[in-house]
Amino acid sequence: MSIQTPMLLKGGPLAAGIRETVLADVVAFQGDHGYTPELAIVVVGRDAPSTVYLKKILDGCERVGIGGRLVELDGECSPDELTRTIEELDADPHVAGIIVQQPLPDCIPLRVVIDALDPRKDIDGIHPLNAGLLALGYEGYLPATAHAAVELLKRSGIELNGRHAAVVGRSNVIGKPAAQLLLREHATVTICHSRTPDLTAVLREADIVVVAVGRPGLVTGEMLKPGAVVVDVGFNVTDAGLVGDVDFDSASRVASAITPVPGGVGPLTNAILLTHLVRAACDQAAHRVAPGTPSLGYREPRAGSLSGP
Ligand code: NAP
Repeated sequence: MSIQTPMLLKGGPLAAGIRETVLADVVAFQGDHGYTPELAIVVVGRDAPSTVYLKKILDGCERVGIGGRLVELDGECSPDELTRTIEELDADPHVAGIIVQQPLPDCIPLRVVIDALDPRKDIDGIHPLNAGLLALGYEGYLPATAHAAVELLKRSGIELNGRHAAVVGRSNVIGKPAAQLLLREHATVTICHSRTPDLTAVLREADIVVVAVGRPGLVTGEMLKPGAVVVDVGFNVTDAGLVGDVDFDSASRVASAITPVPGGVGPLTNAILLTHLVRAACDQAAHRVAPGTPSLGYREPRAGSLSGP
């Protein structure tokens, strides 16, 4: 058992530093290109938790001088209407990035978004092309939350090379990309999910634990290896307020470092997303081509870490 107070892995201070850099980049972009890059957020129907999340993204844009465009479609809209909306944004040169808020209504499969979305504007890495680039070690656009989870570790000085990392959760937006990024950093990675028979047995061997499940208190201190570093991506609204997937009290008695919830991965996610937007704006301005043409403008792999914003 760790008897020392664990290091708190706070996203806020890191996010503030990133936003300063983005602000300077946006000013330079405006000077070079004469317009303000915009992030378009498409929302289909109304959903209270998403509205809070979206407001934070739009506030984040405003703070760094990025234009935030909220496109609200009726919950009853047809797949064709959503396709047309995304294609219009694809074609708009001022819009550098597009996020389509999930979950979508049941009548609209995610495939509709993927078929319409220009991968060069997919700054939250949902398009299969960007997922494939990540898997192969190219610099596509990463899912922002997974990127933030690993960036939080790196920027907090946590050694990843050669260490055993366990990722709990295998979603396309968090678990899988987080595991790929940890692999890129030369960690030995185990991915756990709802069919993992003995989660404790895996976690007890892990130096780094990243949890993205959506179940309050799933991981407790008793399940962790003493001295483990714990990143809690979970974000659950409960009667007790916002809590993560890790039981903070018991885990912080064992861990050497741990994220608070709220205040860990969340604030960094928003700042990281802004870096993706600026990169997309610069890439699009540099390789201005009509949407749908084969040149995707992604970068070759380079030696060492590829995940830095
Ligand atoms: P998701 O798509 O529902 O995936 C959850 C994953 O957890 C699945 O892979 C599931 O396994 C696994 N799982 C479920 N029960 C489990 C159990 N008992 N033991 C082990 N694994 C289990 O969720 P998500 O979109 O990845 O989101 C995960 C969490 O992150 C949520 O709390 C969400 O609110 C939060 N989140 C945080 C941020 C942020 O910025 N901090 C951003 C977005 C989301 P199967 O695949 O076998 O079903």
